[in-house]
Amino acid sequence: MKLKKCSDVLVMGAGPAALCIASELIEQGLNVSALASHSPEKPWPNTYGIWAEELESLGIASLLGHRWKNTVSYFGDGQNNDGNHLVTHCFDYGLFDQAAFQNELLKKCLGLEWSIETAKNIRYTDEITEVICSSGNTYRARVVIDASGHRSPFIRRSYKEDVAQQSAYGIVGRFSCPPVDKDQFVLMDFRPDHLTNEQLKEPPTFLYAMDFGEGVFFVEETSLAFSPPVSWNTLKERLLARLSSRGIKVLEVMHEEYCLFPMNLPLPDRNQALLAFGGSASMVHPASGYMVGALLRRSPSLARQLSKSLSIDPPLDSKALAKEGWRVLWSNELIQRHRLYQFGLNRLMSFDEALLRTFFATFFKLSKKDWSRFLANTLPLHELIIVMLKLFTLAPLKIKLGMIGIVKN
Ligand SMILES: Cc1cc2nc3c(=O)[nH]c(=O)nc-3n(C[C@H](O)[C@H](O)[C@H](O)COP(=O)(O)OP(=O)(O)OC[C@H]3O[C@@H](n4cnc5c(N)ncnc54)[C@H](O)[C@@H]3O)c2cc1C
Repeated sequence: MKLKKCSDVLVMGAGPAALCIASELIEQGLNVSALASHSPEKPWPNTYGIWAEELESLGIASLLGHRWKNTVSYFGDGQNNDGNHLVTHCFDYGLFDQAAFQNELLKKCLGLEWSIETAKNIRYTDEITEVICSSGNTYRARVVIDASGHRSPFIRRSYKEDVAQQSAYGIVGRFSCPPVDKDQFVLMDFRPDHLTNEQLKEPPTFLYAMDFGEGVFFVEETSLAFSPPVSWNTLKERLLARLSSRGIKVLEVMHEEYCLFPMNLPLPDRNQALLAFGGSASMVHPASGYMVGALLRRSPSLARQLSKSLSIDPPLDSKALAKEGWRVLWSNELIQRHRLYQFGLNRLMSFDEALLRTFFATFFKLSKKDWSRFLANTLPLHELIIVMLKLFTLAPLKIKLGMIGIVKN
């Protein structure tokens, strides 16, 4: 068992959250160390999607491996000629070039010493934090950032029984005929005409799909959020039924994606001596499930604050440093916005599929500037309230009643 030297900040994890925050801390000139259960060079298991504008505003749109201009959704019932209710988003969507994104962050982390270790326990002394690993080694830092994902056992949060989860089952493969148009990205295809009357009463799901070119497509049946989560078996059955109802057969499965993560994980307790970033810090957008844009936008301010707080004399202990970090990461403004999004998600989870389709059809009637900033969580609180009021005004009566909780389907 070894006791390691004490660093300014120790980052736990090697996913997008860990690399985003570690690279910004290094940029601040801090003495950073990192530990993760596996090499930071191991390719990430997920492929991340994002609206292209979010990366353009950060000057890193070149990290997209795929980019679609033809972006659409379907909110109709699919039963007659008008039933498709096609909405064209006229807004580019992209998928990261996973290797390029990971390498770009690793390049910024050059010189960072990684320990391949699994954290088992965390101990706080009067001044510093110690991370005890399964090897028996102990790592020490003035403050530790837990970026080990949403399953972290170390982050204290208010207990909540029913955490809604986003679940999805997807296939990258070849099909007997194209499941989406050439060069097209489908954000949400809610057409339910392949479902039985019984299935229509179950939690709604939609198709998320895209053309990768050269005859390869990604199709994924998704449940936005539900507790308990919609099972992968159900999602797979629904995906195959959806394809089959359009006369499409799966010819080759190149990759299967099984997706499950919490959408409304309670916020962390901001009085704990451990900081967090990413899934462990409940940073997933509760209305959309996206997070990577937020990681890129929010890591610089957290790193700057820590740099400032670490230079205070007399030195702050772990609890005081973490408090300074939490204050920036989850400012009162961000907490209020998060509560509004959570309120919205709770209402959406009470909607049946017809109501949900109508809701989204209404949502995308907002101006592009409004809906895109709503989805990216870049609207200041007062503007978010205004956009929510606009949505309420635009909504048909049945949606208004659903939004205020009067009608529950
Ligand atoms: C299948 C899927 C698809 C998604 N798609 C998108 C998307 O398209 N766009 C988007 O914005 N978001 C998406 N998300 C949501 C979110 O962005 C991801 O969950 C993201 O991976 C979370 O990043 P993270 O770094 O916080 O955690 P993770 O990616 O889970 O990384 C956690 C890291 O911590 C390490 N670790 C865990 N425990 C320990 C320990 N005890 N000691 C040391 N190391 C440890 C792990 O090995 C890993 O390196 C998706 C999520 C899933 C599950």
